[in-house]
Amino acid sequence: MVLRLEDEEEMKIDLEWLRDHCRCSLCFNTMTHQRKLTLLDFPSTIRPDSFKVSNGKLDVTWNDGHDSTYNINWLKRNIRYEGDDTIDTRIPWTNPPNMEVIDYESFMNGENGVIAILKSILQFGIAMIVGAKPNLQVTEEISKKIGPVQKTLFGEMWELNHDLTAVSHKDSAYTHDSLDVHTDNTYWSDAAGLQIFHCYKPADSGGETLLIDGLKIVEDLKVKHRACYERLCKTPVSATYIEDGQCHEHVDPIIKLHPVTKKLLQIR
Ligand SMILES: [Zn+2]
Repeated sequence: MVLRLEDEEEMKIDLEWLRDHCRCSLCFNTMTHQRKLTLLDFPSTIRPDSFKVSNGKLDVTWNDGHDSTYNINWLKRNIRYEGDDTIDTRIPWTNPPNMEVIDYESFMNGENGVIAILKSILQFGIAMIVGAKPNLQVTEEISKKIGPVQKTLFGEMWELNHDLTAVSHKDSAYTHDSLDVHTDNTYWSDAAGLQIFHCYKPADSGGETLLIDGLKIVEDLKVKHRACYERLCKTPVSATYIEDGQCHEHVDPIIKLHPVTKKLLQIR
C-alpha cells in the first residue's frame, strides 16, 4: 500500500506489517503494550477491502472482516526504525571537560543535584561527587539515587583493596600495579553503562585515576584513520574473564555502533 498525503513524502506500507500492528483492543493490550495477535492469526493474503484517510487517521477494513484505525503520525514514526530521535548531547573532550562537581549534601538533597550529575554524565561521560563519607553504605545511597545497582560476579556493591590474599578475584585491579588506559566489562554481553568509584583511602603516593574520552578517540580515528576505524567497527574480538568458578566470554567489535544510526554505543 502506498499512502500519498498532501505536501508529504509518500509512505510505502507493507500490508502484513500494517495488519500485524493494529492497535485495537482485540489485537493489542494497551495496559501492557504487548500484542495479542501473531502473524499466524491472519492469512498472508491479507488485503484491505477499503480504506480512507481523514483527520490524521487511516481507517482500514480488511478482507478478513477486521477493522483497524491507525494514527498517521504513529505510522510515520514506526513504519521503519530510524533510530532514537533524542538529541545526542555528548561532547567529545581532550582537555579536562567542564564536568559537574557537586558536594554530597547537595546531591542527596532533592532532585537538582541528580539532574546536574546526569547532565554532566550525558555530556562528558563523567561527573564528581565530593565530601561523601568513606563507607559502602554511603556509596550505595549515592548509586541508588541514580539507578538500580547491576548484579555481577563481583557482587552488587564491592570494595577493592590491594591485599590479594584477602579477596576472591584474581584481577590486576586488586594489585599495586598501575592500570594503563582500559575499558571494563568487555567479557560481558551487557557491560556496565555507568561505573561509580568511591575513594575511601587515598594512596600515600601515586594512586591517580586516569580518564580519557573514548568518544573523542573514535571521532578522531574516524577522520584521521578511516580504514583503522572501519576495521575496529567490523572485526569481532573475543574477551574472556576467568577465575575459579567463573568463565565469561563475549565477542563483539572493539568499536560498537548503533546498528541503524551508526552512533557510538560502546568501546570494548
Ligand atoms: Zn485489531
